[in-house]
Amino acid sequence: MVESRNGTGAAARRSEPRFVIVGAGMAGVLSAIKLQDAGFTDFTVYEKADRLGGTWRENTYPGVACDVPSHLYSYSFAPNPDWSHVFSPGDEIWEYFEEVARRYGVEKYIEYGTEVSRMQFVDGSWHLETAGGQEDRADFVIAATGVLHHPAYPEIEGLDRFAGPMFHTARWDHNVPLAGQRVGIIGTGSTAVQVVSATVDTVGELCLFQRTPQWILGMANPPIDDGQRQQYRADPSAMQALRSELSHTFEDNFANAVVDAGSPQLKMLEDLCRANLEDNVADPALREKLRPDYRAACKRLVVSPDFYQAIQRPNARLVTDGIRRVEAHGVRTADGQLHELDVLVLATGFRVDQFMRPIHVVGRDGVDLDDVWAERPSAYLAISIPEFPNLFMLNGPNGPVGNFSLIDVAELQFAYIMQLVDLVCSGQARQVSATSAAAARFETERVEAAKRTVWTTGCRSWYLDDRGVPAAWPWGFDRFREQMARPELGDYELV
Ligand code: NAP
Repeated sequence: MVESRNGTGAAARRSEPRFVIVGAGMAGVLSAIKLQDAGFTDFTVYEKADRLGGTWRENTYPGVACDVPSHLYSYSFAPNPDWSHVFSPGDEIWEYFEEVARRYGVEKYIEYGTEVSRMQFVDGSWHLETAGGQEDRADFVIAATGVLHHPAYPEIEGLDRFAGPMFHTARWDHNVPLAGQRVGIIGTGSTAVQVVSATVDTVGELCLFQRTPQWILGMANPPIDDGQRQQYRADPSAMQALRSELSHTFEDNFANAVVDAGSPQLKMLEDLCRANLEDNVADPALREKLRPDYRAACKRLVVSPDFYQAIQRPNARLVTDGIRRVEAHGVRTADGQLHELDVLVLATGFRVDQFMRPIHVVGRDGVDLDDVWAERPSAYLAISIPEFPNLFMLNGPNGPVGNFSLIDVAELQFAYIMQLVDLVCSGQARQVSATSAAAARFETERVEAAKRTVWTTGCRSWYLDDRGVPAAWPWGFDRFREQMARPELGDYELV
């Protein structure tokens, strides 16, 4: 439909739509495979880095793993018989995405080292510019830019004065040796917990700076033995059966539990977390320091088979006094003590309100996304923004991020998006975007439903936006699946 990027004028015009996918992480690779499956060939995936893999390329810290079981955290169409563990390590997951991209032949669509810096909807198509000055046009843009993507650096006085190596977990510096070093870790989220367990036996001293304790679900992570892997290879249907069983378990016990603060499943999770703490921390004083004063799963639940064991090693210390400032040789806490350190690790999470930004996105009639999202990001069903036609997001704002496989989420979203694309391809419309009324109604319903979730029961977490409203899907997964089955056309403006 638009002139081909490589075209030379009218002769190069084509009726096949052109797509641009932004980002070659899990969702971008999925989009490329699905577009190709659907018979589309005119598309490019722009990836700013030099390899695909998104969060799994960026997070290489020791102990990185996924807390969704690997046989569920895989594309539904590409089960992997070779997962090494129930919760496989990050480098294996990264390799999986690279291998699937190769197997499905979509690497050829990816332009690495190309960062989209601006996109504007002009005369019925998206005009894109890259940081390197390249230009492109597309009928459709699929933003697969990720959620936990921009590292959050803490506002702590003196951070820049630390004399030793200091880095965020998503920018791990593997050139820094840890053996025998005094290592400080700031944060107690999923990332910090994994780093602590993975490094405590290597470092000389480990000092964990805890601002808020976390509830921890003690799930074991056994290896998957050779015999089982061979069985999966010989009979892939066994993997599908396992996937569907895991999916039900996750849906019932996690995804649906957290959106109903009064559910018996949530009570069960709370009991399990409490028992994990009581049973596995021997020293009563340490146990109380590690005991949260809010409900389990209010913050995103941390899953670890061995964090409590790690923090009780003789060379590990839990510091609960607030951080006053960072100094050249360590961290000084509110009690005046200087905790001397050689290396400082910031496990301080991500800025979760960015999504496509910092790309400068301008929609129909010059509407600027920075203005639309000035207060906070939002999108109808996490996918479409009024006045930004033919631009669709995967894992966009306020989607289902609560303890569920984002792969399943993205697959359902993509199938939904393709139905919107079909409206254009079949000539029913040229431009598709959610109506303002639908987006406003969705937001009102979402905010109301969020009051029943465990996320609003009294804790600080990355789920909460500037108003204290969880920036997440506040309903069960069934509702998400139902809503993704078919777009409600009355909620869309078709031009
Ligand atoms: P996070 O959950 O946002 O945790 C950030 C930690 O840094 C919190 O403990 C926070 O304390 C602390 N912090 C931030 N600023 C601080 C400051 N100025 N002073 C002291 N402490 C400060 O980040 P994350 O651990 O990277 O995890 C983010 C999300 O990534 C997870 O919730 C999960 O969705 C995903 N993740 C998943 C896995 C997995 O296994 N699948 C692994 C890693 C990450 P407060 O609690 O007091 O705010």
